[in-house]
Amino acid sequence: MALRLYNTLTRTTEEVVPLEGRDLRLYACGPTVYDFVHIGNFRTFTFQDLLRRYLLYKGFGLTHVMNITDVDDKIINGAGARGEPIQEYTSRYTQAFLEDMEALRLQRPEIMPRATRHITQMVDLILRLRRKGLTYEQDGSTYYRIDRLPGYGELSRLDLHEAERGDATDADEYSKDNPRDFVLWKARKPGEAYWDTALGPGRPGWHIECSAMSMEYLGESFDLHAGGVDLVFPHHENEIAQSEGATGRPFVRHWVHSAHLVVEGEKMSKSRGNFYTLRDLLDQGWDPLAVRYLLLSVHYRKQLNFSFQGMTQAQSALQRVNDFIQRLREVPDAAEENRELTEAALQAERNFESSLDDDLNTSAALAAIFELVRKGNLLLEEKRVGGPDRDAVLGFFSKANEIFETFQLESLELEDDEIARLIQERTQARQTRDYARADQIRSLLSEKGIVLEDTREGTRWKRA
Ligand code: AMP
Ligand code: ZN
Repeated sequence: MALRLYNTLTRTTEEVVPLEGRDLRLYACGPTVYDFVHIGNFRTFTFQDLLRRYLLYKGFGLTHVMNITDVDDKIINGAGARGEPIQEYTSRYTQAFLEDMEALRLQRPEIMPRATRHITQMVDLILRLRRKGLTYEQDGSTYYRIDRLPGYGELSRLDLHEAERGDATDADEYSKDNPRDFVLWKARKPGEAYWDTALGPGRPGWHIECSAMSMEYLGESFDLHAGGVDLVFPHHENEIAQSEGATGRPFVRHWVHSAHLVVEGEKMSKSRGNFYTLRDLLDQGWDPLAVRYLLLSVHYRKQLNFSFQGMTQAQSALQRVNDFIQRLREVPDAAEENRELTEAALQAERNFESSLDDDLNTSAALAAIFELVRKGNLLLEEKRVGGPDRDAVLGFFSKANEIFETFQLESLELEDDEIARLIQERTQARQTRDYARADQIRSLLSEKGIVLEDTREGTRWKRA
C-alpha cells in the first residue's frame, strides 16, 4: 500500500509521490541552539525520525536535511550574558542536542547544516529578491515586501484583506495573525555578531536561513518540509515567500506539521517555564526509550499531554512488550509449530503497516502490536508456540523496531533486580505447582550464568 500523509498546504491527505524517481527530499527545521532542547521540541524531532524511518521502510531513497540555527536573538542574548563568543556558546548546545538525539535513538539526517556557515547563500538569495523588486531597505536592514507576492498567506490561510497589514518587523518571532513585512537582513547593532556583506554589515533574519539552506542541499523544488505546527505562520509562510519569490517555482510539494506537546493544556515552552529537558527526565531515572515510546504513542497531529502518569504508563507498556519478547525467546527450537501465532504475527504486520500508511497513525500501529502480545501470551500460557512461530513473531518485532526502535530484541545481561523478579516468579510458580514454568526460569537463569540454591530461608543466587 502507498503512504498517505496530511498536507497542510492543501488541507488533505495525499499519497507521497517523489517529484523525481524513487528519491525523496525532506527538510526539517532544526533546533535553535541557545539552551538544552526540551521534550516538547523532541516530540517534533521524534516525529521527524518516525517520518524518516517510515520513508526508508517503504523503500524510498531519502535525503533528509535538518538545520541548526546557530545565530538568532536568543543566542546573541545568551552568549552576551555569559560573555562568550557565540560560536563557543552554540557548539556546546549543538553537542548536547546530538547526544540527546542519540539517547532518543533519533537517526542522524544526512545533512545538518549550520546557519552561520551559509551566510553567502543567504545573501545571494536576498540579492535575488532585491533584483526582483521584492525588498526594500530601512535603517540598514532589508525587508520583504509581502504585498508584492500574490500567494502570500496560502499555507496558513491568512486573510490578508481582513487582517490589517502590520508594520515591518525585525524580530525573529512575532505574534500570530499579524502579517508584516519581515526582515531578511538585520543591520548591525553595537556589540552583536555581524557579517560584512553586499547588503551591508549585519546578520540574517531567521526565515531566510531555512530557504537558503534547504535550496542549497535539496534544490529549488523539493518533496517534503516538516516542523512543529507553530512554524506554519510566520516561519513557513515566509520561507515560501522567499523561495518562490526568488525562483518563481513551487518550493515544497508536501508540508507536514506535528502538533504540540502540552502540559495541562498549555504548549511546553521555555518562555512559559513549564518545560523538562530530556536530561531532567534521565536524571530522575526515566529510561530514554520510555520517553521515545511516549513521544511516538500519540498520533502526530493530536496534541500530546505530558504527565508523569503518562510516563509511568509508557514505561509499563514497553515493559509488557519486552517481557513478552523475553518469554518468547525461551521457546525452544524443538517446540512444534502450531501456526496460530504465526498467523497472528502476519496479521499484526498487515495492521501495523496499514496504520502507518494512513498518515503515520502510530497509536493504531501500537494497538496491532498489543493485540499480538495479548494473543501470544495466551498461547505461551497454553504452550502452543513452536520454534517457527517464535521466529515469525521475532521477525515481525525486528521490522517494527526499524520504526519504533524501543523494543528489546536482544537478550541482555540480567540485572540484579531482574534476577530477583525471576526468582520471585519461580517461587510463586512452585507454590502453584507450575513446575514446568519453575524449571524454565531455573534454566533461563542458568543460561545467563546464574546459579540458584534453594535454602530454608528462601532461594539464594550467585553468578557462576
Ligand atoms: P525552536 O528551537 O524553538 O525553533 O523549535 C524547534 C522545533 O520544536 C520546531 O519545529 C518547533 O515547532 C518545535 N516545538 C517547539 N515547542 C514545541 C512543543 N511544545 N511541542 C512540540 N513541538 C514543539
Ligand atoms: Zn525553518
